[in-house]
Amino acid sequence: MKKHDQAAPETLAVHAGVRKGEFLPAVPPIFQTSTFSFDSAEQGAALFAGKGKGYIYTRMGNPTVEALETAIAILEGGAKGLACGSGMAAIHTALVTLLKNGDHLVCSDAVYGPTCTLVGKFLADFGIESTMVDTSNLAAVKKAMRPNTKVIYVETPGNPTLVVSDLAAIAEVAHQAGARLVVDNTFMSPILQQPFRWGADVVVHSLTKFLNGHADVVGGMIVVKEEEDYPLFRKALNHFGGVLPPMESFLVHRGIKTLALRMRRHCESAFKIAEHLETHEQVEWVRYPSLKSHPQYELSRKQATGGGAVISFGLKGGVEAGRRMMNAVGLCTLAVSLGGVETLIQHPASMTHASMGAEARKHANIGDGLVRISVGIEDVDDVIADIDQALEAVAAAKKDHSEMHVAAT
Ligand SMILES: *Cc1c(COP(=O)(O)O)cnc(C)c1O
Repeated sequence: MKKHDQAAPETLAVHAGVRKGEFLPAVPPIFQTSTFSFDSAEQGAALFAGKGKGYIYTRMGNPTVEALETAIAILEGGAKGLACGSGMAAIHTALVTLLKNGDHLVCSDAVYGPTCTLVGKFLADFGIESTMVDTSNLAAVKKAMRPNTKVIYVETPGNPTLVVSDLAAIAEVAHQAGARLVVDNTFMSPILQQPFRWGADVVVHSLTKFLNGHADVVGGMIVVKEEEDYPLFRKALNHFGGVLPPMESFLVHRGIKTLALRMRRHCESAFKIAEHLETHEQVEWVRYPSLKSHPQYELSRKQATGGGAVISFGLKGGVEAGRRMMNAVGLCTLAVSLGGVETLIQHPASMTHASMGAEARKHANIGDGLVRISVGIEDVDDVIADIDQALEAVAAAKKDHSEMHVAAT
């Protein structure tokens, strides 16, 4: 058999992190235990001293959790993974490990809503300053750098505008300034994009999305590129405490077996739907990284092997049209989140990005008519039919409204 680091992503998704233990199980068993017993006082002392093989206590390490951490580290091409209780726990742990009071952070302005609040409010309260910039604009990134900048945090494609940032160029800016590049790779998964190849130092994930893929677990992951960074991150996670339990780790590891298949299907269907939306008369604009009309189309082709599952588009008619469409969908589930096997649709201005406030939304280009779809793995024509009937309902409501308007005037 080929060594892990030589196999294709499709192969790694099935085999990574699977170690045959006692009784040779084909998948890592669930070690549903909070603590582990020691053979002797000497063995216990050795484990606490970081010597020898074994486990102490599940917050500090557990074989089921470790299997998942190994799998994702291999898929990303990094040294080590650290499973966290949620994507936000991973982002928080990673940032607070790298930053301290008096440090400065440069952060993408189009990020997951709670990341924006974490950085802008909670980290600020602890004396960590930040500048939110459009990281697709390299000049803006350079301009935002300060002598005390320790981290550049990039989400690409950004949420929900799908703006694409040049990881290789940003890594260079970071490293020249002695700062680290942290990348949220949730939207692409390691199947489509591997930020370490472009110079990132740390990758974070919400496992809740594509990696688990079945909308039944909340979890997160930190992956470090260099082995030497691992002890500090592990120590931080042990003390912050936001770890992922064994059962959740097992489920995510199981989900990863089909990750490559799912991502391929997500990309094919999303591309078809994006092309279809581009021709629709109720739609003002469409953003999807694999569309030629995407402003960073070439960069996206260089940096990633697919456009992913998420499409954003602008409805003609703003907030009201958005509301009508949300209430008219049938097959598409009206829900936040993304990356599951089912197609989800949502309206960021009133849902995921409402907490950012109107000013920050405007700054990040999140318009009132912006709709976000996470395309699932259903038959694509069924999804298109549902979108079309919902858009017809938007058009019909506008027609009624203008007729009423004519009657009233
Ligand atoms: C969902 C998401 C997160 C947060 O993950 P949770 O598991 O919900 O805590 C962070 N980043 C991105 C891009 C996400 O989509």
